[in-house]
This record gives sequence, C-alpha cells and structure tokens, in this order.
Amino acid sequence: MEIILVEKLIKDVTSKENVGRKIVLNGFVNSVRKGKNNVFVMLRDPSGVIQCVSHAGETTFTEANRLTRESSVRVEGVLKEDRRAEGGYEISIENISVYGIADSFPIKKGHKKVFLFDNRHLWFRSRRVTAIMKVRSTVFKSIHEFFDDGGFYEIQSPSFVGGSVEGGSTLFEMDYFEKKAYLSQSWQLYAEAMVDSLWKIYTIAPSFRAEKSKTWRHLTEFWHAEAEMAFTDLDGIMDIEERLIKHVVKRALENNSAELKLLGRETGPLHKTVETPFPRMRYEDIIDLANKNGLKLEYGADLGADEERAITSKLEVPVFSMRYPIKLKPFYHKPDPSDPTHVLCNDLLAPEGYGEIVGGGQRVDDKETLLRRLREEGLDEKNYGWYVDLRRYGAIPHSGFGLGVDRLVMWICKMPHIMYAVPFPRTPRRLTP
Ligand code: ATP
Ligand code: MG
Repeated sequence: MEIILVEKLIKDVTSKENVGRKIVLNGFVNSVRKGKNNVFVMLRDPSGVIQCVSHAGETTFTEANRLTRESSVRVEGVLKEDRRAEGGYEISIENISVYGIADSFPIKKGHKKVFLFDNRHLWFRSRRVTAIMKVRSTVFKSIHEFFDDGGFYEIQSPSFVGGSVEGGSTLFEMDYFEKKAYLSQSWQLYAEAMVDSLWKIYTIAPSFRAEKSKTWRHLTEFWHAEAEMAFTDLDGIMDIEERLIKHVVKRALENNSAELKLLGRETGPLHKTVETPFPRMRYEDIIDLANKNGLKLEYGADLGADEERAITSKLEVPVFSMRYPIKLKPFYHKPDPSDPTHVLCNDLLAPEGYGEIVGGGQRVDDKETLLRRLREEGLDEKNYGWYVDLRRYGAIPHSGFGLGVDRLVMWICKMPHIMYAVPFPRTPRRLTP
C-alpha cells in the first residue's frame, strides 16, 4: 500500500472553507459503531477526533465494517458540516486504506490504575494521556524559552558520578569497572564549577533517587530543571523561580486551554498564580500555619508530602518556605550570617495540596565554612577536593535551584499522582513498560 504522509491534522482541515472539499487524514479508530445502513468511524489523530461515515451500498461499506477499535487507517472523503457530530464536522468516506487491523483492545472503561500503567504503551494513545503530554511539552518548551530569553546558557553535567549530593540514602549504586559509581541526584556540584565560567546556567536532565518511601510525588527517575547564577543571593534567586513558574503556567494557559478543559482542570488557581505575587514565609511561620491546619509539628521537623499537603491544600497560589534549620538541608547551603543555625534556602510549595516543586537557595561561598559543614555532616573532605577548590580560587556569591518538572506538570494538570505526568514512570515497583 502506498504510504502518504498527510501533513494536515483534523484541527487543520475542519473549517468552514473546507466544507465540500476532499480531505485525506491518517488516524486511529477511536471507536466504531456498525449498523445495517451506516458505519460510523470516530477517527483520532493527535489533534482530536472526527466522525467519518460510510453508507450501505457504497464501495467503502465492506471495508468500514472490517474496522475495529484502535485499527490504523487512512481515510479520504468529503467534509460536511454536522451539528450533531463532535467538533461539528463529518467526513463522507470515499476511500479507506487500512494500515493495521487491531485485535480486541485490552483497555476499556473503568480499569484500575495498576492495569492502566501495566498497559501504558497502549493507554498512551488515550485522549487524556495525550492531553497531559501536550501540557508536558509546553512546560519543557517554556522552561527553555524562559532561560533563553533571560540570557542563561544551557549546559550539561554527567549522569555517572563518584559521590552523593543530596545524601547517601537515595543513591543508586553500580559497578563502574573496578570502582563504584552512582547515578546523579542533581547537577549541583558541577553547576558550581560551570557557573564560574558562564555566570548564568541551566539544564533540563533526568535525576535519579532511590526513594524508599513511596509517595504520590516521588519517582526514582525524574526530570530536573536546574539553574545556577553568579552574584545572586536568596532573594534574587527566588525572583527567578517565581518568574519561571509564572511564565510556564501562563504558557500552559495560552497553549493548552483545550487540554486543560478535557482534563476537567479548573483553571482559577492557575490564573491567580500568574497574576499574584507568591508569599514568602519563613520556616517557623510555615510550621505555625501547619499547626493551625491541624498538624502537630515541632520546630525542627522536616516537611514531607503529608505535611505539605496539609499546609497548601487551601492555598491557590504557590508559597515560598524559607530559611530552614541547618540540619534539614545538605551541606552546600549557605548558613544565614545573622543566624548560623539556619540556612539561606527556599522551597517553593505548589498550592492545592501539592507542596514542594522547587528547592533552592544561596550556596556556601567561603572555604572555611565549607570545610566545617563537610565535617559536621560526617563527609570526608578528600572526596570533595575539586569542589573545595572552587572556594580556594576566587570564590563568588552564587545561588540556584532545582525544579521537579514532573511535579509541575502534575500540579498544572491537577493529577492525583506524579506517575500520570510522566510518559513511562519509574518507581521502586515499576520498571516496565
Ligand atoms: P522531597 O522533600 O519532596 O523528597 P527534596 O527536597 O528531596 O524533595 P530537592 O533535592 O530539593 O528535593 O530537589 C529539587 C526538586 O526536585 C524538588 O523540589 C522536587 O520538585 C524534585 N524532586 C526531588 N525528588 C524527586 C523525586 N523523587 N521525584 C520527583 N521529583 C523530585
Ligand atoms: Mg527540597
């Protein structure tokens, strides 16, 4: 059979001026209804669905009757207006070419989450999954756009590393010739070397964490958008984080209104996020807020998924939680000069119960403090030789952050679990498909 790359999609051809014209479309059979006098084929492509009809007595009728759900076809026919059809148009089929007839499709309405993720390779075609992936595409593109417009250089760090950044408990370890290697948890230490040369840098790359406590917001492989900036302090980096999130959400609202509608996403909080300044609260005020919302947190408690869910469930705009006790953060965060028991860090908590989407802050920028912090954390200075060098040869004040892109997509689409936001999610229990 001749393969025709049809350039146009359903959304491109369904317009008043095309009514009466011959249309050619490739697609999948979203559903098919067979009657004595008509066969109605709902044809689906990445842009939507359109009803195609073949009548008894027409040469296409036998071929149309062969079609099953999820068969792949090329349809040629004349475009008509039809108020009753989804989208308002219909195609009278004049020719059908079959690429592949589908066996009985395993995915039907009402399946449980585990079954759907076991069949992610087929479920991926569904209109809801397609809608989420279109939002995800907008999120990635608009992150690049934001940093590009802001004069940041895109730069990469290795995925095989010799040591830990975020703490040993979530390290994936592997044999690396005669040594041990680990999968990167963050680009942090490398970013601090590269920032001395380029001053404003970012990357979007996978990070890996062997998360033992399974929650609705943790993956073992996630996409991490990280940025680092020279001569910038905590307030400066929070400004960048806030502008980035506003930009991405604005783009999602502009580009994906149809997808957000299909997903049933009420967009009020997204509009408010674009328009309203994000409140900046100190860690102790966040603890007070949590306790007002029914939690019983002690000062010094770390905030996890459950605590942050309680804190943010009534919010409609992201909130910064700043200046955590030093024990709660990795060694590279700069102690607050006015209160060295706390560090100049921030977490950005998404509203509607989602919690942390960004972790950032100002970095240690003098050698003595760095060596002391390594000792306090029980880390061997020898393993951080090149990192200490960065403070030995012209240290500069600098700040940065890491954004969990999958978490941002989950919140924008208001999904109940991070797995929905990722094409093929990786969790402690899931390595296939
Ligand atoms: P959490 O407390 O939720 O485990 P974290 O504080 O360990 O997160 P950071 O080290 O600050 O995370 O990483 C920066 C960002 O990367 C987080 O704000 C989050 O959006 C994202 N992130 C971290 N771990 C994961 C994960 N396992 N799965 C998905 N995203 C993650
Ligand atoms: Mg964090």
